[in-house]
Amino acid sequence: MASVELTTVSKSYGAVRVIDALSLAIGSGELVVFLGPSGCGKSTLLRMIAGLETVDDGSISIGGRRVDRLAPGDRGVAMVFQHYALYPHMSVRQNMAFGLRNVRLAPAEIERRIADAARVLEIEQLLDRKPGQLSGGQKQRVAIGRAIVKEPLVFLFDEPLSNLDAALRGRTRVEIAQLHQRMASTMIFVTHDQVEAMTLADRIVVLNDGRIEQIGTPMEIYARPHSTFVAGFVGSPKINLLPAAVEANGTAARALIGRDIVIDLPLAGLRHPARFVTLGVRAEAVTVGGGGPIEGTARVVERLGDRTLVHVELATGQGGAGPQIMATDRGDSRVAVGDQVAISIDPTAVTLFDAAGRSHHAGLDDD
Ligand code: ADP
Ligand code: MG
Repeated sequence: MASVELTTVSKSYGAVRVIDALSLAIGSGELVVFLGPSGCGKSTLLRMIAGLETVDDGSISIGGRRVDRLAPGDRGVAMVFQHYALYPHMSVRQNMAFGLRNVRLAPAEIERRIADAARVLEIEQLLDRKPGQLSGGQKQRVAIGRAIVKEPLVFLFDEPLSNLDAALRGRTRVEIAQLHQRMASTMIFVTHDQVEAMTLADRIVVLNDGRIEQIGTPMEIYARPHSTFVAGFVGSPKINLLPAAVEANGTAARALIGRDIVIDLPLAGLRHPARFVTLGVRAEAVTVGGGGPIEGTARVVERLGDRTLVHVELATGQGGAGPQIMATDRGDSRVAVGDQVAISIDPTAVTLFDAAGRSHHAGLDDD
């Protein structure tokens, strides 16, 4: 295992800049997830680390050694793709051995590595089968096995679970997490799926249009998003983002939604309050019942079993349809569509955003 360091790495295709002076340090043994929407540059970044794409500008180091001019095979990385790309005419064993034979590793060492990887992945009974005799999940395990036998310094995964059905995706995700714990290896995992990112990552790198929006642990990303982009990309249901006006004096701050809804905020000393135009709060911090002070009408009721999501149209005192907010009620909620409901918002869970979508959290420096 080894650290990975990117320093002001850039990449363009023609006139289009896909990665823009991106810098990032990944610790040895860390599992880092690159998360972002399709087209934001995740694969390009991973492929530059792997050596499958050239770097226009900047540098990449692995284990303290500069690698961005080295051939892929000399970088100490192994990559697993969404498409397993196994050789159909070769057995699983031969598929796993192929890359190692090419670098003339001793046959006994090849056997040992295949046996070890097969044990870790629990595919020992599949070693003599051909890919055509394997399920999708088994094929993906073989593809991971092919990476493991290289004993790389860094594993690179590019959406490896996207081709699997939902149940298998969940299982394989857990297996990759366990693999990371057992092997204690450095892993970079690319996905557009925020659940995969949240559940797998030591740290998530949220990418937007070739740039880093935020780097943090899953809970930092979830609870303290730096921007409306991050806030909206992570978490299900989607965070509530409501137009709001913010007022503050030296000792108190409050947000107004429409005319009638006032939320006192634990943000003493908030400066330049007028710059905030959006209030963000997740559905679990908006609760139905309990005599909450905010009134509205239930428009949609979604029963999830363990909890109920209630889409509430707020009565803001401005006439016309108010903004909608997603609130949470108990699993056995009595709320029906059309009911008048009272909700409360946990003010400690509120994030404020300015017109550029940048956030402010209680306790952070406010300039
Ligand atoms: P992601 O993996 O996040 O979906 P990619 O890294 O594949 O995104 O692509 C980032 C951007 O670069 C996209 O706009 C894509 O169309 C463009 N792109 C990727 N590969 C090439 C290429 N070989 N030539 C031209 N444009 C490319
Ligand atoms: Mg991609």
